[in-house]
Order: sequence, then structure tokens, then C-alpha cells
Amino acid sequence: MFSYEVVMLKETEKIDYHPEKIRKSSLKLLDTCKKVERYDITDSEVLISGGGGTIKDFGKLELLADALHGQVSASRKIIDQGIATRGIQVGQSGKTVNPKLYIALGINGAIQHIEGLKNVEHIISVNTNRDAPICSLSDLVVEGDAFEFIDKIVLKIKQNK
Ligand SMILES: Cc1cc2nc3c(=O)[nH]c(=O)nc-3n(C[C@H](O)[C@H](O)[C@H](O)COP(=O)(O)OP(=O)(O)OC[C@H]3O[C@@H](n4cnc5c(N)ncnc54)[C@H](O)[C@@H]3O)c2cc1C
Repeated sequence: MFSYEVVMLKETEKIDYHPEKIRKSSLKLLDTCKKVERYDITDSEVLISGGGGTIKDFGKLELLADALHGQVSASRKIIDQGIATRGIQVGQSGKTVNPKLYIALGINGAIQHIEGLKNVEHIISVNTNRDAPICSLSDLVVEGDAFEFIDKIVLKIKQNK
């Protein structure tokens, strides 16, 4: 276990700090914890929602959410993977949401997910498979990679500011 000593310093004293002396082997990962979102997805006007297609970098959705003044939500796939907490799950066993705009990134559109979208005004879906069920319910379908979409839209928004 990593041990340390707390030393009270007078204002004039310098900190004698030697990071090279901390042996790597003495550091051990004790636990990990999921980020807890402190907002209610049922209050959001813009939701950037990620599914199985965004598992490898789900955190990137926050870039688009920030750029569009929205919040991040998810399909159950993301919750079951332990990437986000149940509070942001959309669907039958999650929440029914009411945004003006729902951007579904890498979400297939299982019936249990669609159940949570009955009050959504507009859906944009981004999917590598244009035949994914969610595409037939969407106002706009972007066929392609979710992460590439985020990069391009965020850049465009920054350029237009
Ligand atoms: C009793 C019960 C209750 C349930 N409740 C819910 C619920 O409340 N909410 C819910 O969501 N699910 C729920 N489910 C689970 C549901 O059946 C599906 O398993 C789940 O919704 C699938 O999530 P997904 O579409 O995100 O993932 P996947 O099925 O893995 O789909 C991933 C999609 O991403 C696309 N994709 C892959 N890579 C990329 C990429 N790089 N860029 C863009 N697209 C890509 C794929 O083409 C695919 O369409 C429930 C199931 C049961 C049995």
C-alpha cells in the first residue's frame, strides 16, 4: 500500500518533492467508479444518446452535448457495460424522454428503446447500418461512423461561432 507523510510547511519553506522516489509497484488500483450524472434526462431539450456503437469512447458524446447545450443519455447497452449509470438510460426499463431533438448515435432501435422515445419531437440517427430499425423512425439519417460525425459537427459549430 502507498504510504505518505503529511508535513506542515511554513510559507517560506520549499516542497522537497521527488516523484522518481515513488515506486510504481507501490501504487495499486483499488476500485473504479462510474461517473454520476447530475441532471435529469427527462428535462433536457436536446439529448445526445449513445448505444452499442459508441462503447469504445462513450465520453466523447459530451463534446457534442456541450456544443449543442444538451445532455448525454444512453441505451441500455451502455448501462449494462458499466459505462454510465441507470439514471441516463432511455427506454422501457429506463426513462421516457421529451426532448425537441434526440440524436441517436450507434443505437439500433430495439422496441424497448423506442418505448422511451414516444414524446420526442425530432430524431436524427447516425448509424453505420442504414437499415437499423431506428433509421425508419428518424427525421434525418446519417449513414456513417458516430465518432466521425461528432468530430465534424463540433468543428462546424466552433467555426460558425
Ligand atoms: C425486458 C427488457 C427491457 C429492456 N429495456 C431497455 C431500455 O429501457 N432501453 C434500451 O435501450 N434497451 C433496453 N433493452 C435492451 C434492448 O433489447 C437492446 O438490447 C438494446 O437497446 C440494444 O442497444 P443498442 O441499440 O445501443 O446496441 P446494439 O444492439 O449493439 O446496436 C448498436 C448499433 O450501433 C451501430 N453501430 C456500430 N458501430 C457504429 C459506429 N461506429 N457508428 C455508428 N453506428 C454504429 C450498429 O449498426 C447498431 O445499429 C431491454 C431488453 C429487455 C429484454
